[in-house]
Amino acid sequence: MTYDIAALKARLAGIRLEDNPAVLRQKSRDFYWYSPTLKRQLDGVVGDILAAPTSEEEVLRILAACFELGIPVTPRGTGTGNYGQAMPLAGGLVLDLSGLDKVLDIAPGRVRAQAGALLADIDAACAMSGQELRLHPSTYRTASLGGFIAGGSGGVGSISWGGLRDLGNILSLRLATMEAKPRLLTLTGEEVQKVAHAYGTNGIILDIEMPLAPAYDWTEAIIGFSDFNEAAAYANALGEQDALLKKLVSVIAAPIPQLSFLRHRPFLPEGRHIVLVMLAPMGRAAFEGFTARWGGEMLFRSDRLPPEERKGLPPLYELAWNHTTLRALRVDPAITYLQTLYPFPHQLGLVAKVHALLGEEVPAHLEFVRFDGKVTCFGLPLVRFSSEERLEEIVALHEELGIPVFNPHRYTLEEGGMKQTDPAQLAFKRQADPRGLLNPGKMIAWENPDFDFATGRTYLFPGLEGRS
Ligand code: FAD
Repeated sequence: MTYDIAALKARLAGIRLEDNPAVLRQKSRDFYWYSPTLKRQLDGVVGDILAAPTSEEEVLRILAACFELGIPVTPRGTGTGNYGQAMPLAGGLVLDLSGLDKVLDIAPGRVRAQAGALLADIDAACAMSGQELRLHPSTYRTASLGGFIAGGSGGVGSISWGGLRDLGNILSLRLATMEAKPRLLTLTGEEVQKVAHAYGTNGIILDIEMPLAPAYDWTEAIIGFSDFNEAAAYANALGEQDALLKKLVSVIAAPIPQLSFLRHRPFLPEGRHIVLVMLAPMGRAAFEGFTARWGGEMLFRSDRLPPEERKGLPPLYELAWNHTTLRALRVDPAITYLQTLYPFPHQLGLVAKVHALLGEEVPAHLEFVRFDGKVTCFGLPLVRFSSEERLEEIVALHEELGIPVFNPHRYTLEEGGMKQTDPAQLAFKRQADPRGLLNPGKMIAWENPDFDFATGRTYLFPGLEGRS
């Protein structure tokens, strides 16, 4: 498919545009290369032009012009997504929203910021009021709020607050539709789920109102166990201690921490499975007693290190969530990963079963969360990659055990999620993007309503042909 880019440029005079091939290529990718499957499928994907608006008016002009000329628009925050989410599968225009980066309003319990604002910058602005975001991905320092809402799911903070899907974790958002005259819509309450985690397929998010929590100087701790299942049981029990306020409880099986966490290595004896904890400081004494009772070995405590030794260490959350994968990959490029959910109340039994069955080939990494009020864990296990066929077998093995897999080796919403259409998101797309120009190829329900998930077949977006 070719587009009339010259006509588009004429309509967008005065707006920052970019068609330098090297820049375009870089701004057409994300962290899709974590997956050998996506790397093979998407390596050649590139947009035809990039636009970097700095105001809402410019966004609306870009959308109107692209609508008129039938040019696809793929929104982009800072491109830290993992599944080719922000990659323009059908080419067209990459809409770089990082210039819409203002924090608009801070009040008790809430903040409103533009979509391109970085999460860490939002927290820096909120710090004066003693507040911070409830949740953030481990890419806190580099990811945008809009990208987190449209592409993320939860992360640091989810042990206390659940995920972005939990009611009340996104208060409201404003978006622009993709029409001849783009409309501005505000969604509140449950309605935000029509657009949250829709990969920008059904609206361009302009600003978002998020809830805030009290800010703390979080204490970082690493606890060691020589038995993996004991580490998991301790983490689960710590998660259930409601009066100990936590922001992170992660379990990573040996030898991954020792091999991958290069700066923390002096604190990580051979053979120890570790639990990473971020704890509000007033709970420290109780936490110490609790950990000793469980036989955990306190390997690292940020509050006990002299400032010169803390310097140069990454924050603990940058060892967790998908940063674990990133660090392991940097040391061993043959590693990839999966995303699984261990359903409550059987999580510990299933974790032990999978570890016994696959522990060598699939080293365990668990992230404990509060999911519908119950403490359980996601798995972000590493996979020593041998072939795409074997990866599929490992996925099937988890599913046979009743462990859902959110497949990070697929670029569509449905296959990376619950393998079913979200009817509310699809219905909203019909209203907000009637020509199907927003981030084409990501919502199967739009592209191929008859696609049968039961066959287990992988969906291949026809628009990719000739572009990859
Ligand atoms: P992008 O990658 O630019 O975009 C993500 C998606 O949102 C794309 O589909 C894009 O089209 C869409 N989008 C972006 N802006 C808008 C907008 N304004 N309107 C509409 N659609 C838009 N994710 C988690 O949830 N939790 C984690 O802990 C986590 N850890 C990570 C660790 C690493 C090392 C990496 C590489 C990724 C991690 N991720 C995690 C995934 C990703 O970082 C987050 O989802 C992040 O919030 C994405 O933000 P971004 O600005 O980079 O978005």
